Amino acid sequence: MTLAYVGLGANLGGREVTIRRAAELIGATRLSALIETEPWGYADQPPFLNAAAAVETELTARELLGELLQIELGLGRTREGPRFGPRTIDLDLLLYGNETIEAPGLTVPHPRLHERRSVLEPLAELDSALVVPGKGEVAALLAALD
Ligand code: ADP
Ligand code: MG
Repeated sequence: MTLAYVGLGANLGGREVTIRRAAELIGATRLSALIETEPWGYADQPPFLNAAAAVETELTARELLGELLQIELGLGRTREGPRFGPRTIDLDLLLYGNETIEAPGLTVPHPRLHERRSVLEPLAELDSALVVPGKGEVAALLAALD
């Protein structure tokens, strides 16, 4: 059993309903509060709702990512449009236990996690003592953004 954390984001359609549904489909044991955040990387789009979920899983990281991508498709995610552009749902594998993984199509911890308030704030709510391998404690990373 591995404790993993998933980042959830949505900025099209019924954002809150979609995020709560995704958390259910993932089998999340805990879901953070949903926070509204400004778009990142591509500014001309609606604001996001973001959250983080904890999931206790028997899947490998690769299998879990595959499941997340399937759930994205099931909830109407398409991959048209610009990178970092609008999406009905984005599910990112943020942390997988304390593992560091560098494989084609799979990087854990998620490469932009340590610099995004939209990810760090929900993670800190779930567990502020959480450590991002190679980067440090979530609470410290968050403080460093100020
Ligand atoms: P982003 O989430 O960075 O805006 P996408 O959701 O379009 O971008 O993801 C693009 C690809 O990133 C996915 O197809 C997936 O293979 C890859 N990827 C690599 N590592 C991860 C990870 N930890 N979580 C989610 N996707 C990842
Ligand atoms: Mg993604």
